[in-house]
Amino acid sequence: MENNCIVEPTTANIQRAADVLRAGKLIGMPTETVYGLAANALDASAVAAVFQAKGRPATNPLVVHIASSDRLADVCDLALLESMRGSIEKLAGFWPGPLTLVLPKSASIPPIVTAGRPTVAVRVPFHPVALALLQCCDLPLAAPSANRSNYVSPTSAEHVRQGLADHVALILEGGICERGLESTIVSLVESPPHLLRYGALPAEEIAEALQVPLDELLRPEATSGRQVGDGDQAPGLSPEHYAPLTPLLFLSEYDWSNPPPQIGLIAFRTLAEDSRRFAVIEQVSDSNNVYEIGQRLFAALWRLDQLELDLILIDTCEETGLGRAIMDRLRRATFRARVSRTSS
Ligand code: AMP
Ligand code: MG
Repeated sequence: MENNCIVEPTTANIQRAADVLRAGKLIGMPTETVYGLAANALDASAVAAVFQAKGRPATNPLVVHIASSDRLADVCDLALLESMRGSIEKLAGFWPGPLTLVLPKSASIPPIVTAGRPTVAVRVPFHPVALALLQCCDLPLAAPSANRSNYVSPTSAEHVRQGLADHVALILEGGICERGLESTIVSLVESPPHLLRYGALPAEEIAEALQVPLDELLRPEATSGRQVGDGDQAPGLSPEHYAPLTPLLFLSEYDWSNPPPQIGLIAFRTLAEDSRRFAVIEQVSDSNNVYEIGQRLFAALWRLDQLELDLILIDTCEETGLGRAIMDRLRRATFRARVSRTSS
């Protein structure tokens, strides 16, 4: 695909994107969380192309995007949804926004979208280009993050081009993603509701809106002591995910006894560390501001991963609010390097 596959989101180009989607092809779609690789969710072969382009296991279901909660009937079984109406109403203020709800699926959604599950993950995105596209094409769009499976998620159109240009008909330019972290996933098919993945909407805000204690919303699997995102209920959240190719480790855990020559640092605050230790420093925030860190984290990983460094070290932040999602992503992103270090 030529370099100019990124197009401005003019009315004509949104119409073109909608035509391409109706024809069963894929596009890059901006959202406020990360860029999505979008396909018509009602077209099983278009959805199969999404799995193929990403190298995504067929066991890992996709999030389906709709234009507004009025369109839930397009993707959900309304009769089964009835008992969840109270929770949906309590959460209504978060849509459009970075909240994905797991709900009973309608028969119109092909099984490939949900990896054979009876439930579907649904979201109304906040980004004006995504909303304009959803309205224009008048279809539910299955759109996982537009990256190769397990690699760092894309927060710019250019990231999508670098990773998936050969697989998309076009990429709609939507600027840098405002939130920069994936949506928070909450299952309403369990009672009380259960948070399956930390994300751009803080768990605390969801617990408050639902009027359930935070511990209950985050409850670990009863017997195994598993944490959010480790269970079978959010398949695809493997311990290794969001990872750059360059080894990535936490600065706080790094043993400086035998450092390689080229080390990059991603800092969340002005650090006391000796800057001469690092070939490059990416300062995503000066003050541990979780909104700045969330927005810039994946872009910093993309950038440093292109510099052929021997190692990237990364800061940590407090695990409350958005910090839960940031540390969740970083534990998965550092997983491979941490495991190979302890086993070598
Ligand atoms: P991504 O599209 O890369 O943000 O990943 C979407 C994630 O949504 C998957 O990895 C699953 O963890 C979760 N998900 C999607 N559909 C379902 C479902 N029906 N039930 C539970 N989790 C789901
Ligand atoms: Mg993803």
